[in-house]
Amino acid sequence: MEDIRANLEKVRAQIGEAAEANGRAAEDVLLVAVSKTRTPREINIAIDAGVTDIGENKVQEIMDKFDEVKPVRWHMIGHLQTNKVKYIIDKVSMIHSVDSYKLAAEINKRAASKELVMDILLQVNSAREESKFGISTDETEQLINDILENCENVRIRGLMCIAPFAENPEDIKVYFEEVKKQYDRFGKIEHPRLDFKYLSMGMSHDFQVAISAGSNLVRVGSAIFGERDYSKK
Ligand SMILES: *Cc1c(COP(=O)(O)O)cnc(C)c1O
Repeated sequence: MEDIRANLEKVRAQIGEAAEANGRAAEDVLLVAVSKTRTPREINIAIDAGVTDIGENKVQEIMDKFDEVKPVRWHMIGHLQTNKVKYIIDKVSMIHSVDSYKLAAEINKRAASKELVMDILLQVNSAREESKFGISTDETEQLINDILENCENVRIRGLMCIAPFAENPEDIKVYFEEVKKQYDRFGKIEHPRLDFKYLSMGMSHDFQVAISAGSNLVRVGSAIFGERDYSKK
């Protein structure tokens, strides 16, 4: 447990180094601490150590922990089924995993019913891996147009990706760079409900490489909380 503090310090230092090497300040990179499988107690330790944003990949975990966790911004970072949007619409501050118009439309409907505007990221998959969710570059443009046209209670804040696993993260730098290109391209669109601010890429084993390719939001779990033990659940 005590490790969480020390781990956080280390991760922050690494973020700072990578950002500076890329000509940016450490503060330009938002750290989202990914707390899946972790207890509210552990999450609160991270919050006491300065974490402002936490990420979960399952609706159920957000609902289970929400009341016990200190005030913090929650990010939905995992695949989201349309029938579960209603459970988290007034709990999370951003949904990173929008990969279809159907999902965006449901978020829009639920956000409207709560009279709020939900920030979303589009999950892109420029490596086109069959096993991962996410949309191709061509589909991204179409999806942006459809959302801007029809979803008044949704604001598009940027892109998110999960890189393919590579033993050596340098090997997937081109992948991150490809997503950064898309981010720069679509970020130029002028529209009141498109306001690019976040390029969400990089996890424990590749966040430094992701930052060197232009990421400004990293989702880091095990490097902060330790290896996950799914068997405990
Ligand atoms: C689990 C998860 C992370 C964090 O993974 P670590 O390797 O533990 O840092 C980041 N993004 C998503 C979408 C995840 O599901």
